[in-house]
Amino acid sequence: MQVVYTPSHLGHDITHETFMGVLVPANEVAERAEIIRGVLDADGGFPRREPTEHGDAPITAVHDPGLVRFLASAWSEVSRQGIPRAFLSADTYPNRSMFEGMSDDAVGRLVREPEFAGGRAGFWGLDSAAPLVAGTYVAARGAVDVALTAVDLVLDGGATAAYGLCRPPGHHAARSMYGGYCFFNNAAIAAQAITERTGERVAILDVDFHHGNGSQQIFWRRGDVRYVSIHAHPDRQYPYFLGREDETGEGEGAGENLNIPLAAGATNDDYLAAVDLACETIAAAPGAVVVVSLGFDTYGLDPIGDFALTTDVYHEVGRRVAALGRRMVILQEGGYHRPSLGENARAWLRGAEGRPFEPLPVAGFGPSGAVAE
Ligand SMILES: [Zn+2]
Repeated sequence: MQVVYTPSHLGHDITHETFMGVLVPANEVAERAEIIRGVLDADGGFPRREPTEHGDAPITAVHDPGLVRFLASAWSEVSRQGIPRAFLSADTYPNRSMFEGMSDDAVGRLVREPEFAGGRAGFWGLDSAAPLVAGTYVAARGAVDVALTAVDLVLDGGATAAYGLCRPPGHHAARSMYGGYCFFNNAAIAAQAITERTGERVAILDVDFHHGNGSQQIFWRRGDVRYVSIHAHPDRQYPYFLGREDETGEGEGAGENLNIPLAAGATNDDYLAAVDLACETIAAAPGAVVVVSLGFDTYGLDPIGDFALTTDVYHEVGRRVAALGRRMVILQEGGYHRPSLGENARAWLRGAEGRPFEPLPVAGFGPSGAVAE
């Protein structure tokens, strides 16, 4: 399977984030993608290539052009306004209750993007967990090109599957919003491109630990993109306000959205049962391609997850998703336990190819549970 990777993600060099207002070491760091790249290179079965540029059009097909403008200009605005900080995070978010009693029309007319960078970040951002730095925009554009090049390999190159090593991840980014380490929604942009180019339906299978609220929002009323997500219940985990079972889509999208929230401590067996339900739901609708939002924050040792999965189950999940018989555009989302990240990705992708999985005999790349750090 070909791997699409670009070093442009390195400019998004995040070192810290805020968690509930407290500065903590960042989880979504450049080392993540470098570890995955290194382990897949060591496998020998994953030839790597760089993405080609795809321009603005595929991005603005799913995102508000204002979000693109904000992300392109935010850091230079921070510098111009002399705001002394290592990364941009919002000052104030527009909580919906601020506008209670106002009509949607009035909100649309009267609530505007402010000029101060801290206000702009609140206008476009969901939360304080998506630190933005000088290289963020170039990295986010690179991740989109990685995703779209993986689409090219599958639609034009005849590949059964391709893996896009996207960083930053994307599935929390909505049409007009960034958040949760995500800036552009790589999977949604890929799915949109597939529907435009093939005229066929497409499915997104999201197996990141967190609900992909952005992907759900973008396709909420769409009848041509089925979104299926297995994730931690939002009663206890980010993104808190979406991700429940009764969110099923509206209008032409009614019945096209399936959320499978799981309890804390979910085991391999719990997870595989959810994967089977997800795959049945995808198989029930036509379509030749599935976009996989692939996260490994479901791993038992992940610092921000609370599931109990092991490396072996990723091989089995990859195998079961491939058994759908659809071509796969597999895009990296989260996963923050760095010692296991490369092997978990390698296990999943080998499963998807129908190849067996044996842990690499390399220090630091230990098998499930054996953290060689
Ligand atoms: Zn996640």
